[in-house]
Amino acid sequence: MAIDFTLSDAQRELQAGARAFAENVLRGVHDVISKHPKHEDRFYSTKPFYKEMANAGFVKALIPAEFGGAPMSTLEFAIAAEELASVDVNVASTLLATALGLEPIVRFGSEEQKQRFLPDFVRNGGELLAALASTEVTGGANYDSEDPTAGTRTFAIREGDFWVINGAKHYTTNGTGWDGKGAHLFSVVCRTDPKLPPRESLAVIVVPGNAPGIKITGFIDTIGHRATVSPRVEFENVRVPFDNMIGVPGDGMKIVPKTFSWTAAIIGAACTGVMRTAFEYALNFAKTDKRSGPVPIIEYQNVGYMLADMKMRIEAARYMTWKACHYLDQTDRAGDELAIMVKVYCSELCVQVVYDAMRLVGVDSYSVDCPLSRLLQDALCFPLYDGGNMGVRRRQLHNMFKQPNYDSRAAAESRVPSE
Ligand SMILES: Cc1cc2nc3c(=O)[nH]c(=O)nc-3n(C[C@H](O)[C@H](O)[C@H](O)COP(=O)(O)OP(=O)(O)OC[C@H]3O[C@@H](n4cnc5c(N)ncnc54)[C@H](O)[C@@H]3O)c2cc1C
Repeated sequence: MAIDFTLSDAQRELQAGARAFAENVLRGVHDVISKHPKHEDRFYSTKPFYKEMANAGFVKALIPAEFGGAPMSTLEFAIAAEELASVDVNVASTLLATALGLEPIVRFGSEEQKQRFLPDFVRNGGELLAALASTEVTGGANYDSEDPTAGTRTFAIREGDFWVINGAKHYTTNGTGWDGKGAHLFSVVCRTDPKLPPRESLAVIVVPGNAPGIKITGFIDTIGHRATVSPRVEFENVRVPFDNMIGVPGDGMKIVPKTFSWTAAIIGAACTGVMRTAFEYALNFAKTDKRSGPVPIIEYQNVGYMLADMKMRIEAARYMTWKACHYLDQTDRAGDELAIMVKVYCSELCVQVVYDAMRLVGVDSYSVDCPLSRLLQDALCFPLYDGGNMGVRRRQLHNMFKQPNYDSRAAAESRVPSE
């Protein structure tokens, strides 16, 4: 049988385990973070939850077995991610940000770099955070601009056996670490020469969080993902060894988008989890609440139709996500077209579905005490982060379609796309 969406016994076990973890552990996040008015304190208060997530194997799941990890396939990760995000997006986002920080090393690092940077996260995964510092305070969308006077403004200039890094980033999720002093490790997107275009100068350099010159200069209080921290981080004359660069100058052009491909697929699953929770809330409300009328509102046609539309979108999102993850796994991540599409499609669908759930429930959904209002605030982030859907469409999908050898059927037919 070529196409079969039945989960294997192992996948069902993973799903049940993640569901139980979400219910037994993550269900407590909301009460804990609600006690803290300051954004950074909300984040710090999630550390015990993150540690439990690490103990449950989710950090090791990011690391190849040769370096002590216990990797999950992308599909397995997605199955678990739907469960986690259906209960809480904050701690799951902290994990996703660690994945973003480690992914350049895991996918593109040398054996020596993997050996140097990854085992810490196996030994001490609950205590340590990684971060990807890509977005510049002046904007992230044009990081790869061909014009050398524009684009990424963080520079790493070679001085003998060192790179000296200067620049200012923001939305660097996990940038504070758990103690406010910095993540354990930053993968910093930078350029090595202000006169050279990105194809010759864009690079990713691994920077230990305790390197002198790293400063957390501000916090951004966000309307959703209330306990995920994405601060402003400055790098002032930060010196790191020459061999901390992943690949060579110019390799950033492939490392950065490929790093976002994996998270793109997983975000599809997170969106499915959030939509599912919104749907279940709306369904329960419709079946049990009469709104001073004679019958529960599910008896009205418009309510039934809305529920049908919401449910169809959720099912479509889930299976497209699974296919995108499977395609990434089958092609050693070379086939990322569907992953990128899943990020865009599911995130915009998620905003729509949560909003529809609110329309269905009506005015009570607007109260801060209603879970739907929180879900909408969380959902609004999905199209905006991880490259932003406008940018993802433009830089990735549009560019892909423009290639003379673009093969529009490769994904559907599970073939590796031509480079
Ligand atoms: C909660 C959260 C967590 C995040 N975590 C991280 C992280 O860990 N690391 C990290 O590096 N970043 C992170 N980000 C930033 C995120 O990835 C951004 O989505 C990304 O930097 C791009 O944002 P943008 O497209 O809005 O860029 P901006 O540069 O702010 O652009 C603003 C608008 O202008 C448009 N625009 C700009 N230039 C062009 C152009 N040439 N053509 C067409 N349109 C253009 C964009 O499409 C966009 O609509 C995070 C963001 C959030 C909200």
